[in-house]
Amino acid sequence: MTYVITQSCCNDASCVEVCPVDCIHPGPDEPGFGAAEMLYIHPDECIDCGACEDACPVNAIFPDDEVPDVFAPYTDINAAFFEFTGEQDAPAPLPPPGSKIAGSGPLKVAVVGAGPAGWYVAEELAATRRCDVEITVIDRLATPYGLVRYGVAPDHLDTKEIASGFAKTARHRRVRTRYNVEIGRDVTHEELLGAHHAVVYTTGAGEGRSLGIPGEDLPGSTSAAELVGWYNGHPDRAALTFPLTRERAVIIGNGNVALDLARLLLADEAALNASDLAPAALAALAASGIREVVVTARRGAEYAAFTSPELRALADDPGLDVLVEETDLAGLPTEEETTERNAATFAALQKAELLRDLAARQRTDAAKRLVLRFGLTPTEILGTDTVAGVRFDSGEEIEAGLVVRATGYRSAGVAGVPAEVDTGRFHHEAGRVVGAEATYTAGWAKRGPNGVIGTNRACAAETVRTLLDDHAAGNLPDPTGEPLDDLLVERGVTVVDQAGWNTLDAHERASGKEVGRPRVKVADPAEQVRIAAPAHAR
Ligand code: NAP
Repeated sequence: MTYVITQSCCNDASCVEVCPVDCIHPGPDEPGFGAAEMLYIHPDECIDCGACEDACPVNAIFPDDEVPDVFAPYTDINAAFFEFTGEQDAPAPLPPPGSKIAGSGPLKVAVVGAGPAGWYVAEELAATRRCDVEITVIDRLATPYGLVRYGVAPDHLDTKEIASGFAKTARHRRVRTRYNVEIGRDVTHEELLGAHHAVVYTTGAGEGRSLGIPGEDLPGSTSAAELVGWYNGHPDRAALTFPLTRERAVIIGNGNVALDLARLLLADEAALNASDLAPAALAALAASGIREVVVTARRGAEYAAFTSPELRALADDPGLDVLVEETDLAGLPTEEETTERNAATFAALQKAELLRDLAARQRTDAAKRLVLRFGLTPTEILGTDTVAGVRFDSGEEIEAGLVVRATGYRSAGVAGVPAEVDTGRFHHEAGRVVGAEATYTAGWAKRGPNGVIGTNRACAAETVRTLLDDHAAGNLPDPTGEPLDDLLVERGVTVVDQAGWNTLDAHERASGKEVGRPRVKVADPAEQVRIAAPAHAR
């Protein structure tokens, strides 16, 4: 028997670390890791020990005789990866762990942003044997987990399980949490630095990007950041409203965010109820008139930004016709023409095969349709009082009542920390922010909005190594400013800590249980604080 990795693989490589026979590839030290859509288990080398299944934070791994029907193709896909790529390259040797660092007290590090990147930084720091460390994880919201709570699609509950690993890190003796604290509002960057040896910004990329075309500001034209924030109950976006009455919506861009949006906009009521969608969004989407979502890309199908596991999930939905024109697929690679046999070419061929299969399918006249279009660059969002459609450079116009830009994100930045103007990203060298003393970054604020959740693990490890090396070199002076907690008390900030979050989490789960849902999210920030910190609510 062998184990099989399936759709919700997060690439964080927890399985690779525990595999006693090194049969899971590509690992973080192998060349194909960055290009792989997911990780794969070699069926002939797996010894059936089950260690990977236990270690997987998102329940993506199954024994081959227990793979759920919806994931049946993944048994072959795992095996095909090894048939296609052949032997894996030998892993690059790991860098030496770094020398012990002498010092009188613990190294004090503030990690700002309690999303995946922040938790991977905290985990890496908490595990170091080079010196003692005191880590404070801070978030401007009263809730932790950032993208996991407010970005991951509400029906991807297995992916959200990754937060249980972050909660474990939060319980580490070296870690403390301070939520509902905004750097730049409650405390300045300089004050935070004055209270710590180093600050790591893991503040992500939460703002939508504009296309700079006419009509973008019309009601019904929105960014993925707003729509995703709304349906996930993000406190900044929960009160937004969107026109969902017309039959068709158009999404610009065809990354995995576009497919998440399409799936949610087309989901039936049972699927919506089974998700942790925010209550207002659940009511609005259940009453939605949208029957067709057109996902448009400016380039050809061979450049499609989505990954095949995400498209496969839509292709396997019996309530949905996924429509692709064969004439759009001429540029797709074929196995015969592909000379390199690595993780990137394997991913490209998987996608090509799936798109060809979809184009060849008979339309079933299902109640709802997802249409994939290519080679369409939007030039104008049409409409007078509200969105009526989109015009493309070819002159084609597609009528729609909702137009969503799923064309990437920008980072919001932090007052007092230099960042790139266009992207909001921190300019950095191996995680050290250029032009700011003792300041570091990891995650989307460092690399831009790319990769899956697990990508942040290696990214965080690089940053932590740089930080500890700087400490070893004596470049992180002892803090001389006022302690953070004193500043927060003086300013009357209502701090929520992990215990407070646990109370709110239990409250949401209990409310969910009453109505047969995984949780009922509290989206109002004042209400979140009232539940999480009742004795101190402002
Ligand atoms: P993405 O994968 O980078 O896709 C962005 C899309 O926007 C591309 O199709 C891109 O086209 C298009 N685009 C960018 N600028 C444009 C412009 N000016 N005009 C028209 N189109 C434009 O980004 P994403 O979908 O936001 O996802 C971000 C990251 O999160 C990705 O790494 C993604 O895989 C990950 N993610 C993963 C999951 C999952 O695993 N389930 C779910 C959601 C997100 P071009 O290619 O032509 O630039």
